[in-house]
Amino acid sequence: MKHELPDLLYTYNALEPYYEERTLRLHHSAHHKAYVDGLNNAEAKLLDAREKSDFSLLKHWQREIAFHGSGHILHSIFWTNMTPGGGGPADGAVTQRIKADFGSLAAFKGQFSAAAAGVEGSGWALLCWNPLFGKLEVLTAEKHQNLTQWGAIPLLVLDLWEHAYYLQYQNKRAAFIDAWWNLVNWEDINTRFAGAGQR
Ligand code: MN
Repeated sequence: MKHELPDLLYTYNALEPYYEERTLRLHHSAHHKAYVDGLNNAEAKLLDAREKSDFSLLKHWQREIAFHGSGHILHSIFWTNMTPGGGGPADGAVTQRIKADFGSLAAFKGQFSAAAAGVEGSGWALLCWNPLFGKLEVLTAEKHQNLTQWGAIPLLVLDLWEHAYYLQYQNKRAAFIDAWWNLVNWEDINTRFAGAGQR
């Protein structure tokens, strides 16, 4: 079964002014699409390797799957984490849990924004449910291709690769982060939190 580029649940201009049309269109239709195509290609090559019992390029294709697979997963979450008219009010079970694990919503936002600002080069900031520790955590992923499978379950992710914001915000990443909070889809975060078995 091939992976497919998921449709956005809103139009390309629906997140303006916080996230402009040309950036979103390119980000979704070109960058995310390239991850999907790369993942499908790598999986096909892995299938071919198994059929031929030729694993000489296995490390290469595993790295391709880490890069394109992580990109596909994280972007798919990123799109649904945003919504026109988003930003709050932050309520529901995940907000209660945020207050318990971070002290307050403001403290969480402060830590998340600082984590996002501190990502070196390409990477992501993530709010995750860690079922092993039984708590929410703010994590960062610098170079998602270095990742493998996740034990933590991403609930909210922010793309900090330059392609995610450079057209609109240039080097002002902090301005992008501040604007992005106005798009956060708290309903989606709560849905994902429930999907992680928490309520
Ligand atoms: Mn991206």
